[in-house]
Amino acid sequence: MEAVSFIGIDRHRLGVDGVGVTTLAAFHGCPLRCKYCLNRRCLEPPEELPRYTPQQLYDRVGVDNLYFIATGGGVCFGGGEPLLRVDFLEEFKALCGRGWNLTAETSLQVPRESVERAVEVVGDFIVDIKESNTEIYKSYTGGDAALSWANLEWLIQKKGPEHVTVRVPLIPDFNTEADCDLTAARLKAMGATRIDRFTYRVQQS
Ligand code: SF4
Repeated sequence: MEAVSFIGIDRHRLGVDGVGVTTLAAFHGCPLRCKYCLNRRCLEPPEELPRYTPQQLYDRVGVDNLYFIATGGGVCFGGGEPLLRVDFLEEFKALCGRGWNLTAETSLQVPRESVERAVEVVGDFIVDIKESNTEIYKSYTGGDAALSWANLEWLIQKKGPEHVTVRVPLIPDFNTEADCDLTAARLKAMGATRIDRFTYRVQQS
């Protein structure tokens, strides 16, 4: 497999993106265009970014093998959108085996086939669902809420709600607490039990 671009690798994270001690590996590239995206580099041309094959990334993050094994941690793939890189995830999982737990931070704005393949190698999912109102979702992300929600419903049923954390942000100037209440209610009706509500902090320029 050819090397792919990453916007960053961050070691020794505890309790922020998955079980135990994790290393965050953030892919370049995303299908959405969120108005307050904090990871703008994943939307810009990748020429300056470091590139890794699965083997090269495995060799680099393996320095924390003992931490991962001792805490039940592993690697959290974010971005950008890690489910655009399912080939990479599959090859990486074949290298690290069961000893490391893989987590994916995803918007699920990808074809169902990508989710079906990711379920086989990713232990836990953090889903940035953003909004249930299709018009708000479209105006904030440029994407199709129906695609992400259909994938989420399938994922919760397939993986089990204990392995799917869903983030519901209050997005200044785009949605309201009442909108978040509706999103949370829809999630509960869908079987989600791990719902993370928070507020985006928008930096004024
Ligand atoms: S999904 Fe994440 S990385 Fe992609 S545009 Fe939105 S905030 Fe940025």
